[in-house]
Amino acid sequence: MKTKLTLNSPLKELQKYTAEMNIERGFSDETVQEKIMLLMEEIGELCKAIRKNATNVKSAQDSKIHRIQDEFADVMLYIMALANKLDIDLTRAIIEKEKENSKRTWR
Ligand SMILES: [Mg+2]
Repeated sequence: MKTKLTLNSPLKELQKYTAEMNIERGFSDETVQEKIMLLMEEIGELCKAIRKNATNVKSAQDSKIHRIQDEFADVMLYIMALANKLDIDLTRAIIEKEKENSKRTWR
C-alpha cells in the first residue's frame, strides 16, 4: 500500500514515501554519485531562494517564504533518496549521532 503523508508523518515514513516515489517517477536507477550531485544542485537552489527572498524573513511575503520552503523540500527529498540508496535509516542515524553528541563538550 502506498505511503500517505500527513503533517505528523515521522521521518521513517517520509523516507519510505521517498523510496516509493523514486520508483514511481523513474529515479530509482540513479546512482549515489548522480543523487549527491543533484542534492548539491538543490542546495544551490535553496541558497539562491534564501539569498533572494529572505532579507527580512519575518516580513517576507508568503510567495517568498513558499519559494524557500519548496527548496527545503527538494533538499530533504534528495537527502532521503540518497540515504535510501545507501540503506541508511536516517532516524537511527540521528539518534545514534545525537547519543555521541550528548557526551561531547561543546565549547
Ligand atoms: Mg529545487
